[in-house]
Amino acid sequence: HPPIHVIGGGLAGTEATWQIAQAGVPVVLHEMRPVKLSPAHHSEHVAELVCSNSFGAKSADRASGLLHEELRQLGSVVIAKADEHAVPAGGALAVDRAVFSRDLTATLEQHPLIELRRDEVTSIPTDSTVVLTTGPLTSDALAADLRQFTGQDYMSFFDAASPIVVGESINRDVAFMASRYDRGEAAYLNCPMDKEQYLAFWQALCAAEQAELKDFEQETAKFFEGCLPIEEMGRRGEDTMRYGPLKPVGLFDTDRYGAFDAPENKGKRPYAVVQLRQEDKGGQLWNMVGFQTNLRWGEQKRVFRMIPGLENAEFVRMGVMHRNTFINSPELLSSALQFHQRANLFAAGQLVGTEGYTAACAGGWLSGTNAARSVLGLPLVSLPVTTMMGALFGFISSAEPKHFQPMPPNFGIFPALPERIRNKRERYGKYRDRSFSDLHTWANTHQITIKQPALATA
Ligand code: FAD
Repeated sequence: HPPIHVIGGGLAGTEATWQIAQAGVPVVLHEMRPVKLSPAHHSEHVAELVCSNSFGAKSADRASGLLHEELRQLGSVVIAKADEHAVPAGGALAVDRAVFSRDLTATLEQHPLIELRRDEVTSIPTDSTVVLTTGPLTSDALAADLRQFTGQDYMSFFDAASPIVVGESINRDVAFMASRYDRGEAAYLNCPMDKEQYLAFWQALCAAEQAELKDFEQETAKFFEGCLPIEEMGRRGEDTMRYGPLKPVGLFDTDRYGAFDAPENKGKRPYAVVQLRQEDKGGQLWNMVGFQTNLRWGEQKRVFRMIPGLENAEFVRMGVMHRNTFINSPELLSSALQFHQRANLFAAGQLVGTEGYTAACAGGWLSGTNAARSVLGLPLVSLPVTTMMGALFGFISSAEPKHFQPMPPNFGIFPALPERIRNKRERYGKYRDRSFSDLHTWANTHQITIKQPALATA
């Protein structure tokens, strides 16, 4: 077989390369470091962890832990090396980053079917099967080529995302469904505030602690004109937010109070309203409209829980504003991580809009497995949506394209269980058991080897 070309030796590219080689197909991994460094990477090794050294919670009844375990069972080299070089970190899987990346580099270099080539790829090769895994800081030349290939509107270079809240954690005794002026179907969940609540929220927001922007992010902050962080809007004046995303006009809880214009309802009109827009088809995730922010994550939780209806909000992702190259996957990719436009082109990692180290490994596994299968003449595979991997790739390939933002692993994107389980721990345990069982059935159907038995599920 002619070699498959994997572009970008990060978390996703390392895993994809390994899976291709293990399937018996030769592979060239192109990594631009150390010839050219990204603004966040420092070393010359593959799978460099750019920030924290943690892959998230270990327990398989947590979203990240379940993803680790699925990857272990599917023979992920990145998770195997993370386990080998783990350092004590409470309930999290954290690694000695230098040893981890060095070992993965040597592991790839020693494989007879892998060539590690140190070069920057500036355009997508057209004459071979390709896996794109160049990450959130894809080099400019390649990003320009990818933009041309996908079309202007299908690439983002910045991520200005609002927090996403689990629907079940929103207090529906307070928040109400309505569209402004009752136009069309009631599409938003609305959190109403009276004046006192608004002022307290406004003051807390203005005083909350900011996250520090990296140098290269400060440079690019100018791209956010017209998309102000919510705290900056607050700082511009007491009422600025009430003329912006917190505008109350035309929003009224008619189910509870009756007609908006009834004289007795005059005093019940909200002073400000925070709106949440549905994020997934099932309505389990809700996005806080206009709440892109640079606040620290802990501060976001503290201040945003002051919003009536969000007292107990469970956040699946926090608001961010940072440089992040990603494609509009719902328009461009299948759940097998193959481009609709070109059958021998695959992609994974932060570039396709999954968020985080472990999600990048998961994408690497699937894109590498499918690239190899396509060369070997085998049918491509997608994972069951009841597994964390399947749910994640199902989400990014089918989300609403207009508002697409990167998504971390979380249980909000899982299909509901047949029975309603109120206790969260118990519910997550059921998700885990269902995932393992469906993963095994799926693997048997597609002749995919499960490398390790599931960890104790109790
Ligand atoms: P990367 O790991 O970035 O790998 C991409 C690789 O492609 C790089 O090695 C790069 O040098 C190479 N490359 C780029 N362009 C080219 C080219 N044209 N030719 C050849 N090679 C190229 N996630 C977390 O879970 N925890 C965190 O703490 C965290 N912190 C982050 C901090 C920053 C500053 C950023 C930008 C992201 C962070 N993320 C974090 C998000 C994300 O999980 C990581 O970026 C993760 O590394 C993504 O994996 P990846 O494989 O998609 O990309």
